[in-house]
Amino acid sequence: MNFWGRFSPIPNAKQKKVSDINLDYLKNILGILLIIIDCDNTLCEHEKFDISKDIVNWINKAKNKGLKIIIASNNKKERVEPIAKALEIEYVAKAYKFSVFLLWWKTIRKNEINPKQTLVIGDQILMDIIPGNIIGAYTVLVEPLSSEDAFITKTFSRRLEKFLLNI
Ligand SMILES: [Mg+2]
Repeated sequence: MNFWGRFSPIPNAKQKKVSDINLDYLKNILGILLIIIDCDNTLCEHEKFDISKDIVNWINKAKNKGLKIIIASNNKKERVEPIAKALEIEYVAKAYKFSVFLLWWKTIRKNEINPKQTLVIGDQILMDIIPGNIIGAYTVLVEPLSSEDAFITKTFSRRLEKFLLNI
Protein backbone atom coordinates (compact mmCIF):
# COMPACT_ATOMS: atom_id res chain seq x y z
CA MET A 1 0.00 0.00 0.00
CA ASN A 2 1.39 3.44 -0.84
CA PHE A 3 1.83 6.17 1.75
CA TRP A 4 -1.40 8.06 1.01
CA GLY A 5 -3.34 4.82 0.76
CA ARG A 6 -2.79 4.45 4.47
CA PHE A 7 -4.97 7.50 5.11
CA SER A 8 -7.91 5.94 3.33
CA PRO A 9 -11.37 6.61 4.82
CA ILE A 10 -12.64 3.34 3.32
CA PRO A 11 -13.15 0.44 5.77
CA ASN A 12 -12.23 -3.11 4.76
CA ALA A 13 -15.79 -4.15 5.59
CA LYS A 14 -19.10 -2.70 6.76
CA GLN A 15 -21.60 -4.33 9.10
CA LYS A 16 -24.83 -3.22 10.73
CA LYS A 17 -23.55 -3.96 14.22
CA VAL A 18 -20.65 -5.57 16.06
CA SER A 19 -22.45 -8.87 16.61
CA ASP A 20 -22.85 -9.30 12.82
CA ILE A 21 -19.07 -9.71 12.45
CA ASN A 22 -18.18 -13.35 11.82
CA LEU A 23 -15.66 -14.41 14.46
CA ASP A 24 -14.62 -17.62 12.71
CA TYR A 25 -13.79 -15.68 9.56
CA LEU A 26 -11.81 -13.15 11.61
CA LYS A 27 -9.78 -15.72 13.40
CA ASN A 28 -9.35 -18.50 10.86
CA ILE A 29 -9.26 -16.63 7.55
CA LEU A 30 -7.86 -13.22 8.50
CA GLY A 31 -5.70 -14.45 11.38
CA ILE A 32 -6.89 -11.71 13.75
CA LEU A 33 -5.56 -11.92 17.33
CA LEU A 34 -6.44 -8.51 18.74
CA ILE A 35 -9.66 -6.52 18.47
CA ILE A 36 -9.59 -2.80 19.20
CA ILE A 37 -13.16 -1.66 19.61
CA ASP A 38 -14.76 1.76 19.97
CA CYS A 39 -17.15 2.41 22.85
CA ASP A 40 -19.72 5.11 22.07
CA ASN A 41 -22.32 4.06 19.53
CA THR A 42 -20.38 0.88 18.73
CA LEU A 43 -20.64 -1.11 22.00
CA CYS A 44 -23.40 0.93 23.57
CA GLU A 45 -25.47 3.99 22.82
CA HIS A 46 -24.13 7.46 23.50
CA GLU A 47 -24.30 8.24 27.26
CA LYS A 48 -25.99 4.92 28.08
CA PHE A 49 -24.48 2.00 29.93
CA ASP A 50 -26.56 -1.00 28.85
CA ILE A 51 -25.02 -3.29 26.29
CA SER A 52 -27.31 -5.43 24.14
CA LYS A 53 -27.36 -9.18 24.71
CA ASP A 54 -26.13 -9.82 21.16
CA ILE A 55 -23.05 -7.73 21.73
CA VAL A 56 -22.30 -9.24 25.16
CA ASN A 57 -22.58 -12.72 23.61
CA TRP A 58 -20.32 -11.73 20.73
CA ILE A 59 -17.66 -10.39 23.11
CA ASN A 60 -17.81 -13.57 25.21
CA LYS A 61 -17.54 -15.74 22.10
CA ALA A 62 -14.52 -13.76 20.94
CA LYS A 63 -12.87 -14.20 24.33
CA ASN A 64 -13.57 -17.93 24.28
CA LYS A 65 -11.89 -18.15 20.89
CA GLY A 66 -8.78 -16.65 22.46
CA LEU A 67 -9.10 -13.22 20.86
CA LYS A 68 -7.89 -10.29 22.92
CA ILE A 69 -10.27 -7.32 23.03
CA ILE A 70 -9.49 -3.78 24.10
CA ILE A 71 -11.87 -0.83 24.17
CA ALA A 72 -10.22 2.29 22.78
CA SER A 73 -12.34 5.35 23.45
CA ASN A 74 -11.79 9.06 23.20
CA ASN A 75 -14.21 9.40 26.09
CA LYS A 76 -13.16 9.74 29.73
CA LYS A 77 -12.39 6.98 32.22
CA GLU A 78 -15.70 7.40 34.13
CA ARG A 79 -17.55 6.61 30.93
CA VAL A 80 -15.48 3.71 29.65
CA GLU A 81 -14.48 1.88 32.84
CA PRO A 82 -17.95 0.59 33.86
CA ILE A 83 -18.50 -0.79 30.35
CA ALA A 84 -15.08 -2.45 30.24
CA LYS A 85 -15.67 -3.90 33.73
CA ALA A 86 -19.09 -5.27 32.77
CA LEU A 87 -17.55 -6.99 29.75
CA GLU A 88 -14.38 -7.94 31.65
CA ILE A 89 -12.06 -6.51 29.03
CA GLU A 90 -9.26 -3.96 29.04
CA TYR A 91 -9.72 -0.37 27.98
CA VAL A 92 -7.86 2.75 27.01
CA ALA A 93 -9.80 5.91 27.84
CA LYS A 94 -8.97 9.30 26.31
CA ALA A 95 -7.27 7.39 23.51
CA TYR A 96 -7.42 10.42 21.20
CA LYS A 97 -7.64 7.96 18.42
CA PHE A 98 -6.86 10.31 15.63
CA SER A 99 -3.42 10.64 17.11
CA VAL A 100 -2.82 7.06 16.05
CA PHE A 101 0.56 6.80 17.62
CA LEU A 102 -0.99 6.76 21.05
CA LEU A 103 -3.34 4.01 20.02
CA TRP A 104 -0.39 2.13 18.61
CA TRP A 105 1.76 2.45 21.70
CA LYS A 106 -0.96 1.82 24.20
CA THR A 107 -2.48 -1.23 22.62
CA ILE A 108 -0.79 -3.06 19.80
CA ARG A 109 2.77 -2.48 20.94
CA LYS A 110 2.00 -3.55 24.51
CA ASN A 111 0.60 -6.81 23.24
CA GLU A 112 3.40 -7.43 20.74
CA ILE A 113 0.91 -8.13 18.01
CA ASN A 114 1.42 -7.35 14.34
CA PRO A 115 -0.99 -4.65 13.06
CA LYS A 116 -2.13 -7.10 10.36
CA GLN A 117 -3.41 -9.36 13.15
CA THR A 118 -5.44 -6.48 14.54
CA LEU A 119 -9.05 -5.57 13.84
CA VAL A 120 -10.35 -2.06 14.49
CA ILE A 121 -14.14 -1.70 14.86
CA GLY A 122 -16.00 1.60 15.15
CA ASP A 123 -18.86 3.77 13.95
CA GLN A 124 -16.81 6.76 12.82
CA ILE A 125 -14.65 7.13 9.73
CA LEU A 126 -12.56 9.86 11.30
CA MET A 127 -12.00 8.42 14.76
CA ASP A 128 -11.98 4.70 14.07
CA ILE A 129 -11.51 3.75 10.41
CA ILE A 130 -8.78 6.19 9.33
CA PRO A 131 -6.63 5.54 12.46
CA GLY A 132 -7.14 1.80 11.95
CA ASN A 133 -6.11 2.06 8.29
CA ILE A 134 -3.07 4.14 9.20
CA ILE A 135 -1.73 1.50 11.56
CA GLY A 136 -2.36 -1.15 8.91
CA ALA A 137 -5.14 -2.96 10.77
CA TYR A 138 -8.21 -4.59 9.22
CA THR A 139 -11.08 -2.12 9.70
CA VAL A 140 -14.82 -2.68 10.07
CA LEU A 141 -17.29 0.21 10.10
CA VAL A 142 -20.55 -0.42 11.97
CA GLU A 143 -23.70 1.68 11.90
CA PRO A 144 -24.01 3.96 14.98
CA LEU A 145 -26.28 2.36 17.62
CA SER A 146 -28.18 5.61 18.04
CA SER A 147 -28.51 8.90 16.21
CA GLU A 148 -27.37 10.69 19.37
CA ASP A 149 -23.74 11.76 19.14
CA ALA A 150 -21.38 13.86 21.24
CA PHE A 151 -21.59 17.55 20.28
CA ILE A 152 -18.25 17.60 18.51
CA THR A 153 -19.11 14.46 16.56
CA LYS A 154 -22.40 15.95 15.42
CA THR A 155 -20.99 19.30 14.44
CA PHE A 156 -17.64 18.31 13.03
CA SER A 157 -16.80 14.63 12.54
CA ARG A 158 -19.99 13.47 10.81
CA ARG A 159 -19.82 16.36 8.33
CA LEU A 160 -16.19 15.72 7.52
CA GLU A 161 -17.05 12.03 7.15
CA LYS A 162 -19.64 12.82 4.49
CA PHE A 163 -17.15 15.02 2.68
CA LEU A 164 -14.41 12.36 2.76
CA LEU A 165 -16.70 9.68 1.42
CA ASN A 166 -17.81 11.87 -1.47
CA ILE A 167 -14.38 12.70 -2.84
MG1 LIG B 1 -18.04 5.87 18.35
